[in-house]
Amino acid sequence: MKTMITLVASMLFALAVMAAGPANAAGPSAPQAQRAVLITGASSGIGRKIAERLAADGHLVYAGARKATDLEALGRIANVRPVRLDVTSAADIAAAVETVTKAGHGLHGLVNNAGIASVGSFADTTEEDFDLVMEVNVHGPWRVTKAFTPLLAASKGRVTNIGSLSGTVSPRDLGVYSMTKHAIEAYTDSLALQLEPLGVQVNIIEPGNYNTEIGSNAAARLGIETRMSDRSRFPEPDDVATAVVHALFAPDPKRRYLVVPNQREAEVIIRKAIEELVQLNGEQPYSYDRDALVRMLDEALRP
Ligand code: NAP
Repeated sequence: MKTMITLVASMLFALAVMAAGPANAAGPSAPQAQRAVLITGASSGIGRKIAERLAADGHLVYAGARKATDLEALGRIANVRPVRLDVTSAADIAAAVETVTKAGHGLHGLVNNAGIASVGSFADTTEEDFDLVMEVNVHGPWRVTKAFTPLLAASKGRVTNIGSLSGTVSPRDLGVYSMTKHAIEAYTDSLALQLEPLGVQVNIIEPGNYNTEIGSNAAARLGIETRMSDRSRFPEPDDVATAVVHALFAPDPKRRYLVVPNQREAEVIIRKAIEELVQLNGEQPYSYDRDALVRMLDEALRP
């Protein structure tokens, strides 16, 4: 009788597991256990898109924003808890840690998304603007991650940084912005090694051109009009949000996610990475010949 009960119980358990689907499976329609995720810069653009997507998937989203109107708007979305969070403010960050800790749901994911752009030559960039872009784009993710690491470690969670194509290429008039996005590449790699022993995985999304407020916000701050200001010719960043879902929940997340709206942007990035490889390899005493380079590439391509 006892064996029969055990058998029926395990069958019911198996059916329940099959009905629930694999825990943490990624993909737009894959069922997932509800997890808590904090997103910085969720008032508009990519951050807002990620917040909407995770909330629609049933996750608990702590959505960071600075303005009262944005916090109110975010608070009207089901599953979203707005959190006042300027990533340059130590007081905001400490208060956000307290809010998340007191809520008692832990923290599975941190998405370091808040960012601003700077346009123009290095010569024309003011000290003040240089410092601001570094503060938001570089110091911000470092500060916020440091503050939330104990919560992330407790859940063996994930850190997903929002990088950019400008973490690989450095367009002429986006020098300061590219410096910050290159910094986030290095930050991601070192942080991944540092947090691995704690069971926290770290990755980076590298979006191409999408329709957000980044250009108009930079133009307003700098008091200039550029071709970048109106980004309505680019697609909405839904694919970026999909990549974030994979980065946060897939059992085997990638370290880098290149997310671009067309082949041309992908080609620019891959060619730049190859160009750098060739520049590093060339004309030095320990250069590799073509065959050795192809062998290395084959090895790196092996799953
Ligand atoms: P966006 O629409 O301008 O959004 C930027 C977000 O960052 C806003 O929520 C903004 O809040 C927030 N933010 C700015 N300064 C902040 C601060 N001090 N503290 C906290 N939040 C702050 O631009 P976006 O394109 O979505 O940018 C999001 C991320 O994607 C950035 O890291 C950007 O570099 C990256 N990215 C964008 C693209 C693209 O094509 N759009 C491509 C590659 C990478 P406020 O509304 O309060 O200013």
